[in-house]
Amino acid sequence: MDVDIVVIGAGVAGLAASARLRSLGRRFVVIEAGNRIGGRAWTSRPPGLGGLPFDQGAVWLHAAERNPLVPVLARAGVPLVDAEAVRSGRTRVGNAWATAEQSRDYDRAWSRYMDVAGEMLAGPSADARLADVADELPGDPWALTIEAWEGPIIAAAPAARLSLRDWSDNQLSGGNLMARDGLGALLARVLGQDIDVRLGTEATAIAWDGGGPSGVAVETTGGTIRAKACIVTVSTGVLQTGAIRFIPDLPAATRDSIDALPMGLATKVALRASGEDRLDLPAFCTVDRQIRDRAEPAVLVNAWPFGRDHVVAWIGADAALDLAGHGPEEAAALVRDHLRNLFGARADRVFAGAEPVVTRWAEDRLFRGAYAYALPGHAGARRRLAEPVGEGRLLFAGEATHPTLAGTVGGAYLTGLAAADRAAAASR
Ligand SMILES: Cc1cc2nc3c(=O)[nH]c(=O)nc-3n(C[C@H](O)[C@H](O)[C@H](O)COP(=O)(O)OP(=O)(O)OC[C@H]3O[C@@H](n4cnc5c(N)ncnc54)[C@H](O)[C@@H]3O)c2cc1C
Repeated sequence: MDVDIVVIGAGVAGLAASARLRSLGRRFVVIEAGNRIGGRAWTSRPPGLGGLPFDQGAVWLHAAERNPLVPVLARAGVPLVDAEAVRSGRTRVGNAWATAEQSRDYDRAWSRYMDVAGEMLAGPSADARLADVADELPGDPWALTIEAWEGPIIAAAPAARLSLRDWSDNQLSGGNLMARDGLGALLARVLGQDIDVRLGTEATAIAWDGGGPSGVAVETTGGTIRAKACIVTVSTGVLQTGAIRFIPDLPAATRDSIDALPMGLATKVALRASGEDRLDLPAFCTVDRQIRDRAEPAVLVNAWPFGRDHVVAWIGADAALDLAGHGPEEAAALVRDHLRNLFGARADRVFAGAEPVVTRWAEDRLFRGAYAYALPGHAGARRRLAEPVGEGRLLFAGEATHPTLAGTVGGAYLTGLAAADRAAAASR
């Protein structure tokens, strides 16, 4: 027996599990295939943005009032910025900016949309698609815009493939907090403190049938580790590719849950301004546009975060998937076109010399997408995936397994803690 518990993956869930196991006094090892900790919480400092911090993945602490990381970071003495207090918004309608009356109607449209969604959720049908909500509002000028926010942008999922119940269960209402030097860097520093991670060590197979004294054997690129229990925190995208072989095969309920939780995709494109022109937008301004046709790409622009000289565009779901596998310049071209539609030739001048920074989550074989969404009819898959396998010798954790904070660092954190408690109990 090498250790009590093996933790696979040093993202937020794996780091949370490790910290809990340490506090419980258990012998554990955490392995990470990549060369850094933090997983999808990752701050880089790209030369294209003058070396300023850029969160490639998570950037906001959503649902701040119930986000478990808010008190964790507060205890660590880290100041956070209230995104709602500093944010403003602009909406483009056709070739003009929204009038006051249009903006008021856009605000009211959210209630219309939520009312229809609520009626559908209360109705007799087992589960609907998020897309069904807008389909019930055919004359509403804002329904597809709200759908673009809720599906492709926030859930990173195509509305036609997203379970309405899963979307509803994971609504992230409440405050949003940001970290000036990057949320990824902050989480890696605070959660990774004193955790000894074996970097560059990839799990390739897990024998979990309980045969022999150890119960679990994890084959890795650095040799076999024997333990009493194992916590797997890799994304469902990685699990779906079969990059980790399970011996024996996983039970059907676990396998089906993984299949019901595909990875959504959101691609960020950051562009730096070359001069002083800030397009008349204040810092932290969110720019969206009215969508009247589902064929239009869902693109959102966050301008000048922290007053810095770059914008970050967010391309959601289908449009991002279409671009995956192409070079970063194609995503950048889509964003440049979008900015030109919003601001005319002025945008071309502002970003003329920009060296675009483009995230590549779908192409990265250690992630295979942004975060998991549930297919219609499969809202229960997250809970089922978190069910212990093999009397608790095998546990799945990570954002995909949280029933109400899925797709977030807060959700990933809670699942890591829960899995650690279960693994500790199973390996007594
Ligand atoms: C573009 C984008 C924007 C986001 N924005 C937000 C946001 O604003 N707010 C928010 O709360 N959340 C956001 N998220 C989601 C958030 O980042 C994730 O929910 C969270 O970080 C997932 O943590 P995790 O521990 O579950 O998984 P991961 O971070 O994926 O950790 C799993 C780890 O396992 C490693 N691994 C993979 N395969 C193997 C293997 N075979 N062996 C060993 N290790 C392996 C991976 O390298 C990774 O480090 C965003 C994500 C993306 C991609």
